[in-house]
Amino acid sequence: MLKKGSKLNSILTGSCPRCQYESMYLDKNPLHFSKMLKMNEKCSHCDLRYEIEPSFFYGAMYVSYGLNVALSIATFIVSYLILDSSIKTSFIAIVVANILLFPFVLRWARNIYINMFVSFDKKFRK
Ligand SMILES: [Zn+2]
Repeated sequence: MLKKGSKLNSILTGSCPRCQYESMYLDKNPLHFSKMLKMNEKCSHCDLRYEIEPSFFYGAMYVSYGLNVALSIATFIVSYLILDSSIKTSFIAIVVANILLFPFVLRWARNIYINMFVSFDKKFRK
């Protein structure tokens, strides 16, 4: 499922979308908040500039919005329909899930966004 060359591999690992050889981020761990969104300027392996144009990653906000809506709906289904909680408890569960997963959602949004524009290229495979 996570073999090299699939977009899912690049999205979940945060690796370069073109060569998938190295991480796009300075710190691989998204829980280090001070370095959460700090990225390398370009890939040292395939020379891809990550910020394709100025303010490129502002577009990831839309992806982030979609991910948060999907997360909220999934949390609501689990909390309200499966665990049979009240509406108030389900709302609290949605807020908690969004707060706890925000570092991952931010990175996944960026990873999905750059993978919409850059595809894997076999010639950079090592
Ligand atoms: Zn690369």
